Amino acid sequence: MAGETGRCSCPGCTEPPIAVLRGSGERLCTRHFTASVECRVRETVEGGGMVRDGDIVAVGLSGGKDSTVLLHILSRILLDCPVRIVAVTVDEGIAGYRKETIRAARSIAAVLGVEHIVVSFEELCGRTLDALVGELPMHPCTICGVLRRRVLQTAAGNIGAARLATGHCLDDEAQSALMNVLNGDLGRIARTGIPDAGVLVPRIKPLRSIPEKEVTLYGIVQEIYTPLPECPYAGEALRSDVRGFLSTLEYRRAGTMTRLMAGYDRLRARVGGCAGAGRVSCPECGGPSTGGRCRVCELLGQAGRR
Ligand SMILES: [Zn+2]
Ligand SMILES: [Zn+2]
Repeated sequence: MAGETGRCSCPGCTEPPIAVLRGSGERLCTRHFTASVECRVRETVEGGGMVRDGDIVAVGLSGGKDSTVLLHILSRILLDCPVRIVAVTVDEGIAGYRKETIRAARSIAAVLGVEHIVVSFEELCGRTLDALVGELPMHPCTICGVLRRRVLQTAAGNIGAARLATGHCLDDEAQSALMNVLNGDLGRIARTGIPDAGVLVPRIKPLRSIPEKEVTLYGIVQEIYTPLPECPYAGEALRSDVRGFLSTLEYRRAGTMTRLMAGYDRLRARVGGCAGAGRVSCPECGGPSTGGRCRVCELLGQAGRR
């Protein structure tokens, strides 16, 4: 995508292109590439009615590239809107990894002049992820995913946020969509992105149409991309397979992930009312559940027994 020759596709622009957009084939210079990404994010936010005047928007900020780019773009496109942005970083309690990424998150928020809070697994669950991994049989990413979502939701609720924005890009969304299909998880397909049942701060994903490569390039050209250590817990097995498969398909057939998501959104609309689609309140903690005790209470209960 980098190292292109010739001129930028924008009328009258003589700058050299730095990227060819997979979807449209446009070749864009640094300035027009930046504008194009920001414009598509703005369309997603405005078209989806994601943010309203007066809202507090909590932004999940891990310190990694996707969430850093998200915070950067949101603070730009919402600059003149009466909206308060609060960055929220979750400290899962992962030795030798989290300290550095929290430091990165702090400095990004400070540079952008955005309020920033750090919330930890330990505060909410009484244990670090490192401790839970030793107590529970499932993959660390499964434990982390369940608890991180809850910690973010709780933090967003505590600050009175109307929306919780996360840095999921097109690749993440396409991987999750395909995983749900491969798992035959109709309930999860139906639930993705449905309006909350009164128990959640609705989540928004403003980068959902931007390919990961463009998110990375945006971070590089805006000079906000800092390579950070990888999480020591390896990724979910199915997700890595699906990631490899989708990137091969995307390489051979440009636009595969965009088409997958368009089809997935239509499928979701069709199965929206099916069994297992709804959310209820957990009888133990009052948090969101798909029926009975929620996954957070299940995990923590199981950890306590072992
Ligand atoms: Zn240009
Ligand atoms: Zn619960």
